[in-house]
Amino acid sequence: MTPEEALNQEAAWALRSVLADAKPDQQSEYRLRAGNYTPRTPGQRPYNCPRCWVRSNMRAPLRAVPGTEEYDCLRCEACDADIVVPFE
Ligand SMILES: [Zn+2]
Repeated sequence: MTPEEALNQEAAWALRSVLADAKPDQQSEYRLRAGNYTPRTPGQRPYNCPRCWVRSNMRAPLRAVPGTEEYDCLRCEACDADIVVPFE
């Protein structure tokens, strides 16, 4: 799995979880935001945290942290999310 695929998947999960708690008038805004999610802004190095993007409308950088033999790991300093990028 590429980092982009893992991050897009995470954005879809983040959307599902915020929609469960969102008021009806907020739902379209969250959907729109999730639809606009870009793992990496062109010309920018770090990946954007999908959870901060969808939940807080914030571009928080992800930092690579040690993974395992099966996956890489990206961490968000803002929301403490660990995003796993499986090699397969
Ligand atoms: Zn975050």
